[in-house]
Amino acid sequence: MKQVLSVLVVAGVSLAAPLHLAQAADMADINRTLPVAQQGTGAAQAGLAGEQSPVQQTPSVLNLLQEIETLKAEVARLRGLTEVQAHQLDTLDKRQTDLYADLDQRLTELAKQAQAAPVAAAPAAGSATPADAQAETAAYDAALKQFREDDFSAAIAEFKTFLKTYPDSALAPNAQYWIGYSYYALKDYKTSLAHQQKLLAVYPASAKVPHARGRSGKSPSGRAEVSMSDALTLRLTEVFLSLQGETSRAGLPTVFVRLTGCPLRCRWCDTPYSFQGGETVTLPSLLAQIAALGVSTVCVTGGEPLAQKNCPALLTALCDAGYSVSLETSGALDVSQVDPRVSRIVDIKAPESGEAARNRWENLVHLTPNDEIKFVLANRADYDWAREVIHAQNLTQISPVLLSPVQGELPPAQLADWVLADRLPVRMQLQLHKILWGNAPGK
Ligand code: SF4
Repeated sequence: MKQVLSVLVVAGVSLAAPLHLAQAADMADINRTLPVAQQGTGAAQAGLAGEQSPVQQTPSVLNLLQEIETLKAEVARLRGLTEVQAHQLDTLDKRQTDLYADLDQRLTELAKQAQAAPVAAAPAAGSATPADAQAETAAYDAALKQFREDDFSAAIAEFKTFLKTYPDSALAPNAQYWIGYSYYALKDYKTSLAHQQKLLAVYPASAKVPHARGRSGKSPSGRAEVSMSDALTLRLTEVFLSLQGETSRAGLPTVFVRLTGCPLRCRWCDTPYSFQGGETVTLPSLLAQIAALGVSTVCVTGGEPLAQKNCPALLTALCDAGYSVSLETSGALDVSQVDPRVSRIVDIKAPESGEAARNRWENLVHLTPNDEIKFVLANRADYDWAREVIHAQNLTQISPVLLSPVQGELPPAQLADWVLADRLPVRMQLQLHKILWGNAPGK
């Protein structure tokens, strides 16, 4: 028994070491936790010093095991906290770099102007002050908000003003795209086409180009206005009709479009068959397959659908065709280019997935209440990490948050108890299709 207790003492001490390493992240937490660790090791030492009978020793060993479990959970929580704080530091660091670059550019321009005009003219009354990066983003967001609210005329006016005010903005190609799109929504196909062609000509490298190419429409005369969608292809694993098993759309008859390929390898992935293979299909033929299944709700999934460059064009084409569209994405790729009519279901990968380092935190600023954020959790450490992220990033103020247990690893009732105990404002979900049909592909 002394041998067992010696091992436990060593374990207690080794658990205290990571706590010490996390000290820089959160001294208050560490100070709260260390006495617990010391109590654990102290209790073990007391057990060694006293010569207890086997009957007396059994409860002591159980107590020590419980204390070690408590310490493990605390270490996991502190690690999660450290990761969140590291991300916040990264974000601040990047913001500072951007501001510095902006300031540097403006100082350079001022120096050039001073050289060109030695006698400075007094600024005209009421002239505009130089806009900073925040004002630029705010102007773009305001115009996009008009588009999202279906006020296309206002969106056109605001995006045109944006292009005049910030002609060199990195968001200029997007503004040009949304102008064309707004005319399209107003059924002014001729003007829409002219603006989309301007996008292709002036910003050929823009990520919006595949969207513009993918847009297909006909004028009232029936003549095809944009016919480049025939040239767009996608790699497809399967198209099938099932019930949506997750999200706020659970239970709805839905056409699933599973695109092939994924750059991630989550440890518990349930669709590895989508990593390779599949067949190449054109966009029109895929739209025809979807239409043949006869339901109005479509979910584009994978794999990682956004790994295919023509996925945004597919999503836009589906929205244009009148479908209610959702996209399931790993959260590792940029979601900002996705058509705003699509509901984006964005994963945040927890540590047990093995892919937490791939989380693209910049995506969060692009999400809206129309989107949903999903965590898949394998154990208590994952849950504690997710809870910290939810609080630290105010996720429930951005989009509805979903928690799912990894099938066969975390008992659903256990996760439900944790959510209730913490009064966590999230939606816990089970995969309805797996309850109904198990892991059968195509269901
Ligand atoms: S992102 Fe999705 S498809 Fe890719 S490995 Fe993870 S669970 Fe599987």
